[in-house]
Amino acid sequence: MELKPVIGLEIHCQLLTRTKLFCSCPTDYVGREPNTIVCPVCLGLPGSLPVLNKEALKLALRAAIALNCNILRKTRFHRKNYFYPDLPKAYQISQYDIPLGVHGYLEVNGKKVRIRRIHMEEDAGKLVHPTKTGRLEGAQYSLVDFNRCGVPLIEIVTEPDISSPEEAKAFVMELRSLVQHIGVSDGNMEEGSLRCDANISISVDGKWGTKTEIKNMNSFKAIERALAYEIRRQIDTILSGGEVVQETRHWDDSRGITTSLRGKEEAHDYRYFPEPDLLPLTITDELISEIRATMPELPKARRERWKRDYGLGDYEVSVLSSSKPLGDLFDTCVREIGRPKEVSNWLQVEFLRIVDELNLRIEESVFVVPYLKEILELLDNGVINAQIAKSVFEEAVRLRRFPHEIVKSKGLEQVSDESAIREAVKSVLAENQDAVHSYLSGKDKAFNFLLGQVMRVTKGKANPAVVRKVLEEELKALS
Ligand SMILES: [Zn+2]
Repeated sequence: MELKPVIGLEIHCQLLTRTKLFCSCPTDYVGREPNTIVCPVCLGLPGSLPVLNKEALKLALRAAIALNCNILRKTRFHRKNYFYPDLPKAYQISQYDIPLGVHGYLEVNGKKVRIRRIHMEEDAGKLVHPTKTGRLEGAQYSLVDFNRCGVPLIEIVTEPDISSPEEAKAFVMELRSLVQHIGVSDGNMEEGSLRCDANISISVDGKWGTKTEIKNMNSFKAIERALAYEIRRQIDTILSGGEVVQETRHWDDSRGITTSLRGKEEAHDYRYFPEPDLLPLTITDELISEIRATMPELPKARRERWKRDYGLGDYEVSVLSSSKPLGDLFDTCVREIGRPKEVSNWLQVEFLRIVDELNLRIEESVFVVPYLKEILELLDNGVINAQIAKSVFEEAVRLRRFPHEIVKSKGLEQVSDESAIREAVKSVLAENQDAVHSYLSGKDKAFNFLLGQVMRVTKGKANPAVVRKVLEEELKALS
């Protein structure tokens, strides 16, 4: 029996507009006082009329074009009816039979994952349960915040082309990178501007199985774990002679399991009908060419450029393109400094470590460009050695001070003066007779120990090449 996971994804992305999809309320709901950015339109009060936000349409089209979709020229909105307490009008305005784009694809690690459709819709509100976990269980009452109602989303639906949890994660990362690059969404999963659901089934000897839908995967790690768990669960069910039930399941990240949420809805459950308050949309050639003309470099093209023009390897390129701000910073550095290989190393090793330690936002870190430029110059001119350069760079970023000032104020200039270094070498040899003997008796490792000691007594400032040379000379003299 051959068992194969079959995975399709549905991804909701919040569009980077200033105002909501059908009204002029602001979209920045994160951290806002509940129910303070709402109006009759986004609450769906009787008599209010929606007006389509053209900026949202442009961003959605931009995503559809970047995902290689066919753009449908005549489209329209539907009402998707369902009753849920966070949706006061009891329907969501969404696109149903005619989405914006169809038959696209996104290439992930050389494989084309097909995009079935991409359409626009408005977001719902949010229920707040006053429990420790924030979940419904055990809540005495629930609160509702409508600030998010009407925030513009695109929904991107893939064909079931994904065959492993790792591939699903890679797909979402690539998609996030894409929407960030084209300025369509900030792609922030923690704040909910990128949300991912998955449909999973197991095919048995090539015959498709029943699928379940997994919701609430809030991080890349959660996507990978939830899918791995669900695949295991379905395979176990099949192997023990049971049957997989079509349903929607909730990923419980703290327990590491999926649990049954409800039976899966079918389209007819939603009683879709055309939204009578919005005219059908005509997408003109002019609009499409306007969007094509302003399309920036896409992540794949950027990675290929880095490889072709800068000779970077796959691994370096994948780290640098893991987020758009990091890639932007790299491009800025190379424009100002040149030397792509070295810049790439510094950003990946030193800069990312510092970012982590100081909790820096990479998008606000363009101030490091002149610092890095100076560090490389100080190294070139032999003013500091490589070890000192790392600590000076870190301090420069932390204190926002120029490296040359730090070097000067702390007296970190590299010592290349041979007589000073010879003095240090002699005293180290005198104090480490054991190491000297073991070196002279053929244990080469002792050399590095002695070299380290000289660097230590010179507070790391000695020129390592000179130390090496003098140390060799002095040890030779002893043998
Ligand atoms: Zn509103």
